[in-house]
Amino acid sequence: MILFPRPLLKRVVDAAEQAWPGESCGLLVGRTAAAADIAVTAVEASPNIAPGANDRFEVDPQLRFDLMRRLDGGPDRIVGHYHSHPGHPAQPSARDLEMAWEPDLVWVITAVEDGQAIHTTAHVLDGEGRQFRQIGLRTADWHPYGIREADL
Ligand SMILES: [Zn+2]
Repeated sequence: MILFPRPLLKRVVDAAEQAWPGESCGLLVGRTAAAADIAVTAVEASPNIAPGANDRFEVDPQLRFDLMRRLDGGPDRIVGHYHSHPGHPAQPSARDLEMAWEPDLVWVITAVEDGQAIHTTAHVLDGEGRQFRQIGLRTADWHPYGIREADL
């Protein structure tokens, strides 16, 4: 299960709508909470640097590098990423599976129809990395670790 403070999930959803008909993407920062659950503590939007970015996404590697350096030594880490599926369901595509090589990352996908975000889901790779498994996504008004003021 991945826990999203409502303002952070809103940022993911808003980014998906703003990118329409293109594809949004970004990184999720968080930490492992009780019982192996993941709590998102920050959302970092990325430009989608994939060419013709309406059916694929690529997070800016420089943004990821800078973020990792900023998080180094702190309690938070990159726990996953998000992207949108313009005109497609919120399920990982065949291309997503091809691009999935990091077993520790959660994939958050927002389906967008006619510019309107309709559904957001979360997925992880199974043990062998050959398929995705959907996990629960829960929103909360509270947060165990607080939220950066900049994210509100
Ligand atoms: Zn996808």
